[in-house]
Amino acid sequence: MKNQIQKTAKKPRETQKTSVYDNVIKQFNKAADLMELDIEIRKILAKTTNEITVNFPVKMDDGHIEMFTGYRVQHNNILGPYKGGLRYHPAVDINEVRALATWMTWKSGIVKIPFGGSKGGVQLQLDKYSITELERITRRFTFALGDNIGPEYDIPAPDVNTNSQIMAWILDTYLSTRPPCERNRCTHIVTGKPIESGGSLGRDKATGQGVVFTIEEWAKDNNFNLKGATYFVQGFGNVGSWAARLMKLHGSELIAVEDVSGAIFNPEGLDPEDLLSFTRSNNGVIVGYPKGELIDHETFMKIRADIFIPSALENQITATTAPLINVKLIAEGANGPTDPDGDMILQSKGVDVIPDILCNAGGVIVSYFEWLQNKRSESWDLDEVDIKLHKKITEAYGRVRETAKEYNTDWRTAAYIVALSRLERVYKDRGIFP
Ligand code: NAD
Repeated sequence: MKNQIQKTAKKPRETQKTSVYDNVIKQFNKAADLMELDIEIRKILAKTTNEITVNFPVKMDDGHIEMFTGYRVQHNNILGPYKGGLRYHPAVDINEVRALATWMTWKSGIVKIPFGGSKGGVQLQLDKYSITELERITRRFTFALGDNIGPEYDIPAPDVNTNSQIMAWILDTYLSTRPPCERNRCTHIVTGKPIESGGSLGRDKATGQGVVFTIEEWAKDNNFNLKGATYFVQGFGNVGSWAARLMKLHGSELIAVEDVSGAIFNPEGLDPEDLLSFTRSNNGVIVGYPKGELIDHETFMKIRADIFIPSALENQITATTAPLINVKLIAEGANGPTDPDGDMILQSKGVDVIPDILCNAGGVIVSYFEWLQNKRSESWDLDEVDIKLHKKITEAYGRVRETAKEYNTDWRTAAYIVALSRLERVYKDRGIFP
């Protein structure tokens, strides 16, 4: 393995991604039409506020220089500082980052935390770089962003192919470029940090935990017993592996997993803990795991089970793949796994969807808790974090459920309406400067 952060051993299976920001706009327009969002506020929310592109040089281990392109898109900060993850992936571009930033605004609006929406990333193929090169890429990207990020202004966090180690390098670089007297009040420049460097207990599992809390709510609403239920997971990184492990605690049975290397299936059940420890000695990927049969992508998408938890990338459930789906519930751990065509097909098939902007909001909720702990020089125990996360995400689930009933609409549109209503109220209170 070339570096310790590596998750992608092979070239990723191509995902259809050109339209990801178009997806956001279609979803937004549908909700804005239905709720009759104020026409002036609609103009504001349909645009991102700032789009920062930085090209920066990094010295490689052999002494040559490579140029990288990084992005930070800030969609909206009327509810609080911009907040959103950083992704390292070859498919990162301005269109994708725009979409991800916009979803972050809606997410914070739905779960009622005082954050806006942003997202960022660097376009790179992770396994090409050593750990020392990744550290220099991260530090130089942080330096290039300069005052476009800040603990009270725009706060990054982990996303695809970034983790607590990368957050620690961002923290260290940011603090090192501040005057010494400011450093100790800036530890909330990033969330998802290692615990010893100011991270929160429970942040690592937060997104997967939030996914499982929303599945529990769905099960209660539908009088569905999770014990013995079957589920399968796409993506076995932070979100997918945690969701898989936490579902297992309910006595549900994991029957298939897909990651960038391929898909494995075992109708008798896969042990997520055992699979995770296998991946740790297998370049971070699942293919090669001896207790599952290798299957192709189409067979994976066709699996008959109770619950599917997509936790990888965007545009996985589309006009092509939605007809294959054979489940009762899709709980969207990933951002944007279903495109608008896929959504329509799922609705016609009667598949329930807990939409990404609700389902995976556990990450940003516990990021908010980490940010609060840093500001107050506190550290909360895990129970406290979990109880507060449970309260926030289940309340949000209830708001989306009630809104879906009130407007007689699908849950994604209802989730948008919850977020947009909150943003609309704030704009109406505050008005537009000058
Ligand atoms: P990660 O890098 O930890 O894991 C990504 C996983 O997806 C890996 O297992 C990888 O092999 C797999 N993958 C990549 N390309 C694939 C492909 N083409 N087909 C199948 N699998 C593929 O990333 P993560 O942090 O777990 O994020 C996963 C998703 O969840 C993303 O959409 C991200 O935006 C979203 N999300 C993450 C968080 C968070 O806290 N990390 C919060 C909210 C939403």
